[in-house]
Amino acid sequence: MKFTIIGSGAWEGIPAPFCSCDVCSLAIKEPRSKNNRTRPQFLIEGTGGNFLLETSPDIRIQSTAFNATPITDFFVSHWHFDHMYGLHELLSWMKRLSQKPTIHCSTGTKEVIEKEFGYLPLKVNVLEPLKPFTIFGVVITPLPMYHMFNRDNEVPEELLRNSYAYLLESAGVKVAYLGDYYRVPQATLQKIQNADAIIADGTYLLTEKYKDSKPNHMHGEDILRFTSGLGAKTVYYHSISHLTCKTHEEFQKAMPTSHVIPYDGMEVSFLK
Ligand SMILES: [Zn+2]
Ligand SMILES: [Zn+2]
Repeated sequence: MKFTIIGSGAWEGIPAPFCSCDVCSLAIKEPRSKNNRTRPQFLIEGTGGNFLLETSPDIRIQSTAFNATPITDFFVSHWHFDHMYGLHELLSWMKRLSQKPTIHCSTGTKEVIEKEFGYLPLKVNVLEPLKPFTIFGVVITPLPMYHMFNRDNEVPEELLRNSYAYLLESAGVKVAYLGDYYRVPQATLQKIQNADAIIADGTYLLTEKYKDSKPNHMHGEDILRFTSGLGAKTVYYHSISHLTCKTHEEFQKAMPTSHVIPYDGMEVSFLK
């Protein structure tokens, strides 16, 4: 199994529109540098085929920049703009696909797709929490997450239906993609222990400045405490933001060993 982080940025991307912070200024000055980040998007290469995690609003530019093949299967973590609103772009993809695209997701995400994207000829496959699904030799298990505080916080973990993480397993390799979250249910925690790699939410890495009482994300020290306790060989972060005003290099230097700040196009292969 191989995964490529083709979009490593947070919801605004870097450079963020009209932002003059040091990171955005540098990204404008050097448009092909590691400081330029599109929204969350991940390409997974299995045996006999590829699929994508998320359908980011940057999917058109990402697919052409990284020579993606005509992919028909998409696993969406949740229905926020930065993770899903590239669905509109699939109209253009469909002209070159041999079959309708299938969006694999939670019931909460399906409801939003039907409401907002009803005009698109998509297939939607609702995945049951904790029930494995196999695609191109990869066993993918949806894992519930607490991400939307106002909707999820009082919901028992077995009834969560908005945001999923995905555990990917193939030929003895275990990778957990954790989309957005502020708290992780026990059942999910058990599944993601001791993985070869964790891809974790890094939106508010290294900053406590944006903490609030009804968070949708983990913040600052809580992120490092959480990811460091999972027993993973390597932790990669997604949704890297300009908000902490750190360049790619500064970010990486501030990280513990075995924690990686990716860049758009970073490839990770697993062989066992
Ligand atoms: Zn900025
Ligand atoms: Zn989100």
